[in-house]
Amino acid sequence: MPQFLRGFLWIQLYVLVSVAPLGFALLGQTPPGRDFLTELSVALGFVGLSMLGLQFAITARFGTVAAPYGMDVVIRFHRLISLVAFAFVLAHPLLLFVTDPQTLALLRFWDAPWRARFGLASIVALVALVVTSVYRTRLGLRYEVWKLAHGILAVVVVAAALLHVQLVGHYVSTVWKQVLWVAMSAALVGVLGWVRIVKPIRQLRHPWEVVAVEAERGEAWTVELAPVGHDGLQALPGQYAWLIVDGSPFSVEEHPFSLSSSTERDDGHVRFTIKALGDWSGGIGDLAPGTRAYVDGPYGVFSPDRHEAPGFVFVAGGVGITPFLGILQTLADRGDRRPITLLYAAPTCDELTGLERLESLRQHLELELVVVLEDPPPGWQGETGLPDADLLDRLAPQRQRTRFQYFVCGPPPMLDAVETALEARGVPMEQIQIERFDLA
Ligand SMILES: Cc1cc2nc3c(=O)[nH]c(=O)nc-3n(C[C@H](O)[C@H](O)[C@H](O)COP(=O)(O)OP(=O)(O)OC[C@H]3O[C@@H](n4cnc5c(N)ncnc54)[C@H](O)[C@@H]3O)c2cc1C
Repeated sequence: MPQFLRGFLWIQLYVLVSVAPLGFALLGQTPPGRDFLTELSVALGFVGLSMLGLQFAITARFGTVAAPYGMDVVIRFHRLISLVAFAFVLAHPLLLFVTDPQTLALLRFWDAPWRARFGLASIVALVALVVTSVYRTRLGLRYEVWKLAHGILAVVVVAAALLHVQLVGHYVSTVWKQVLWVAMSAALVGVLGWVRIVKPIRQLRHPWEVVAVEAERGEAWTVELAPVGHDGLQALPGQYAWLIVDGSPFSVEEHPFSLSSSTERDDGHVRFTIKALGDWSGGIGDLAPGTRAYVDGPYGVFSPDRHEAPGFVFVAGGVGITPFLGILQTLADRGDRRPITLLYAAPTCDELTGLERLESLRQHLELELVVVLEDPPPGWQGETGLPDADLLDRLAPQRQRTRFQYFVCGPPPMLDAVETALEARGVPMEQIQIERFDLA
């Protein structure tokens, strides 16, 4: 099935499941109607809850769900649609308070009946979940702490809301309605079980081992892994995977990295080139060969294999070079001679991760390598500054703009600047592929 059709069908399914509780409510015998605002409040609560439940499926990294859009788009959708669900769920009690101010008494947690307590607990957890996600960096929350709290809060929100619905009992009282609600809740538990138990167990059966760790320019390290007792990944060049080293697949400490090796290797080995910039990646250079690792992937749609194009323009900033290292090595191994321009920006020469590899790849590819330095050394003859519209104009002439595929990966401000410049120069959106290193 073509990806666009599959993408369209997933959206239909999403909408259908979101409004499913309204359908359940109208099935069979229905209780007598109440005033409009009360019914609207209940409808918003039901749809909001269903949308929140669906977040578990959206973020479960099902390859087939992410394939038409890319995981980063799916995660962005998750973030935005969560806010819509949040508004719906919040509107549920607010409308009830407006319709009947006496219901405000239900906010007194200790005196309130259990149905109200669960409703309140769900909303308090939801507020905490949204605030810690939107303001994570401003609150100074470590990614791992946030991720653990996010998972726990999400379960509390949905479980408490389901108990609230059951205890209120309105619209869920007949046997069939109960069966449908139980089935929906079971699907949710199934997704959680898949993510937290089944998938890690499968990963345990497919371990990897660190075979080499090499220092690179730009405070980065290339870690090479060998599959142990299995064939490794079936990836497209440019894709990424989640890596766990020296821990179990049940651990929350897993990080996404682009494949910086060829996907044409016969030995199944993969390489990740990792910049040492944080508490976890800072220790990557100390990894010893023989360390056990787990790789969950491949993911992502940032791959030239997904596009028919007579040539490519790649724009990389800093460690954003990593997917291009893998893509170029793969194209070289395949003997692909399509023209490629690689614009590689970094502050200084010392920060050009993988430069030697790129230079040697020029012998096997139709590759024009253009280095742009922000802070060039004395006597530097090459390009200087940032990859801006003027530079793109000079390097990517009109002929390329309409036919070549553009791939861009680097720091967020560079991605935005390059995307805007390309669009202003008439490069159609479907010819611009962007990889963002900030899923969280
Ligand atoms: C699709 C994708 C591909 C990537 N490819 C590469 C690559 O090839 N090479 C490379 O050096 N970096 C890559 N990154 C970035 C890399 O994942 C983060 O720099 C790394 O996880 C930071 O971990 P840290 O704990 O050392 O840093 P910290 O300083 O603790 O975190 C810095 C920031 O990195 C992000 N981050 C931290 N941990 C995680 C996590 N477990 N999952 C997701 N994001 C996290 C958060 O936004 C955090 O604020 C990629 C990111 C994505 C999303």
